[in-house]
Order: sequence, then C-alpha cells, then structure tokens
Amino acid sequence: MPGPGYRFVGDEERANVLAVLDRWSADREAFDDPGEADMVRRFERAAADRFGAAHCLGVNSGTSALIAALVGLGIGPGDEVIVPGYMFVASIASVLHCGADVVLAEIDESLTLDPDDVRSKITPRTKAIMPVHMLGAGADMTALREIADAHGVHLLEDCAQAAGASHQGRPLGTIGRAGTFSLNHFKVITSLQGGFLVTDDPLVFQRAYSFHDQGWFPYREDEGEGDLLVGMNLGLGELHAAVALAQLGKLDRILARVRAVKRQLVERVGDLPDVSRRRLHDPAGECGTVAVYVFDHAEHAEDVAARIGAKTLLDSPTHYYGTLPAVAAFGRGEGRPVPSRAPGPARWPRTYERGALPRTDDILGRSVALATGVSDGYLGAGFGVHPASSDAEIAAVAQQFRQAVLATRTTSPASR
Ligand SMILES: *Cc1c(COP(=O)(O)O)cnc(C)c1O
Repeated sequence: MPGPGYRFVGDEERANVLAVLDRWSADREAFDDPGEADMVRRFERAAADRFGAAHCLGVNSGTSALIAALVGLGIGPGDEVIVPGYMFVASIASVLHCGADVVLAEIDESLTLDPDDVRSKITPRTKAIMPVHMLGAGADMTALREIADAHGVHLLEDCAQAAGASHQGRPLGTIGRAGTFSLNHFKVITSLQGGFLVTDDPLVFQRAYSFHDQGWFPYREDEGEGDLLVGMNLGLGELHAAVALAQLGKLDRILARVRAVKRQLVERVGDLPDVSRRRLHDPAGECGTVAVYVFDHAEHAEDVAARIGAKTLLDSPTHYYGTLPAVAAFGRGEGRPVPSRAPGPARWPRTYERGALPRTDDILGRSVALATGVSDGYLGAGFGVHPASSDAEIAAVAQQFRQAVLATRTTSPASR
C-alpha cells in the first residue's frame, strides 16, 4: 500500500505527462537531443523554491540522491559517516558504495539519530553525520547542527520519509549541507520512481551534478567551475519529472490532509495507560504520515501489535540494522556483499550485528506504528488509516487500537 501522494495523482499529473509525449510527437524528426529536460528543469526550480535551497538536482531514486550527495560532499575511502541504526538500508548502502565506512549510532525516543550517542562516536575520521528523518518527523537538528559545526563535519539529511517537514520553521533538507529525497510510491509525494537533492553549496551541487550525468558540468556544459569527475547516469527521467512537478504543487494540500487525519486519529485514541506517543522534536513541523506509540513494556507492545495484525518496529525489515544480513556479513568480512570493496574484519573491525545498539533495540521493541498517511508493512505501519479514510473509519481504527491496548495491559509489578 502506498504513501499519500499516490492517492492524490490526478488531472495535473496526467496533463504534464501528455505534454511531454505531445512535445516528443510534434518534434520527432527534428529531435536530436533527448537530454532536453524541460520538466526536469522545471521540477528542479520548483523544488529549490519550495524548499528554500539554492540548488536542486533531480535523480532517479532516493538512493541515487544519497550517493550523489555523498560524492558531492567529497566523501570516500577512509572517511566515516555516522548513521542511525533505524533508517532505510539505502542510508547505509550509499555510504558503503562510496567507499566510506558506516558508524552506527543509537536513536532517541523520537526514533531518530541521538545527538548524545553521535558525540561519543565522532573520531578524527568522521566526515559526515547523516540524520534520517524517519516516519515523517525530524531529528534533533538543533543539537546535531551544533555537533557538526563544533567538529567541522558535514550534516547530510536523509529526508526520504519527510518531504515538507520542518524543524523550527526551516524545511528539513536545508539545515544540513545537503538534503536528499525520494519520490518512490511510499513517500509523501511520488513519481513512482525518482528522487532529488537540495543544497546551497555550489561545489556540492556541481560535484553531484557531474557524478549524476557522465561527468558533465551543470546543465551539460563541457567546462565550468569545480571538480572534474568521472560520472554515472542517475538522472530523473522527463516523464517521472512531469509527475513529480504536479505532485510538488500538491505537497501542502497533501500535508494538510495527512496532518488532519493524524490529529483526528490521535485524539480518538486519547490517553491510555502504560503507553505514550513518540517524542517529536518539533510537533508542528512533522508530516504526520505515521502515529507511533511507545509502550512501557516490550511484551505489551508485542501483544498489541499481534492483536491489530501489525508488528513492533523492531520487526522492520530493511529499516532496522538488526535485519540487514548483507551488512552484517560485510562487517564480518564474509563474501563480497559490497562488490567494489574488500571486506574484512581486520580492516573494519566494527560490528553490525543485532545487539550493537541496545538503546535502539529497546525503543523499537516497545514501539507500534499506526499508519496515518504512509502504509508500509516494512515500516511497521501496515495497520491504520489514510488520507481518504472517512471519520467513521478513523474512529473505528482508533477504537480497535484502544481495545487492544486495554485488553493486553501488563501492570503486574513483576513485569515492571
Ligand atoms: C525510501 C528511502 C530511501 C531510498 O529511496 P528510493 O527512492 O527507494 O531509492 C532512502 N532513505 C530512506 C530513509 C527511505 O525511506
């Protein structure tokens, strides 16, 4: 099941796609530059505007956005990047494929990167800190910004799940040196496949551009300011950009509806014993795509999850470090799960095994997510409501959750 943008696809997306096809049909004979990326440029300009960044680069996925941003920041072999243990596997994979090392850090009760643990994991090799704004809400960007500035390291924001969210009035993605977004169908806005990055730094933009398009300088110039690079082909397609442009125009409408649905569900659920809501660093700035309840006891969370046909967030395949067998194998030096790199515990003694981050394990094991905009079983939010849910449906889901919590309440002193 998809994210909220998917449900808002309509006439605007259709019109933009047809405009691309019509332009191609009209110009078929004279067409000698398939790279003429009108919708891509329009999307990039609109997104830079919307997010308040100097530059935006459209790419073919959120994963490509992360890799291009890391290359843009100059991160490579010998560097360490601090990544939270609750993320998406792409947050780790992008770092490893750039040749840099991943240092896992704990999350706090907001389910995002814990600044205290980041402080303890900084080394002379640390080159970047990567907060991942999970489930629509931001990390503690005030604290992380301070740490990054104090140590002279980059902040790279993975905003794939938090398009349109903000921290104290500033759009997420513009607080760090660069921010990356995904446009896949689980995200706030979607083109089914795609992504983009934003940055104010002209060198980061130029390097990311050159890397994403065969080493060309921005907008396919042969020469320019910045670094000469050997590039790849990771660009956003014209047809996907046509959809993304229409979706971007609906972002605020989508957020308004998702936030209203979440507010309604949370109010209907009301206060319950032995459970509280996820702590948010800026409640007004979150997307509202998921409502997370953090229980006092893991057994209680597991019982409730089972009753509503969900799972705790500890059971989040591809989003929790303990469920990434290839990453763990890389850490152990087994096989070649990252083909471009020599594995080996001698070179890289860190462990990515489950248990490495006890606080993260504990918090995720006590957390149950209800969908309010994004419905994704792999994120734990397979149960809940969506932007098209009626008031009656929202009330029914809230009631079902309440009953599950009250029915399985574990209050005996022995279990405390
Ligand atoms: C979805 C997602 C990505 C990757 O985006 P794709 O477009 O699927 O490549 C990266 N990071 C996070 C946190 C995500 O949720």
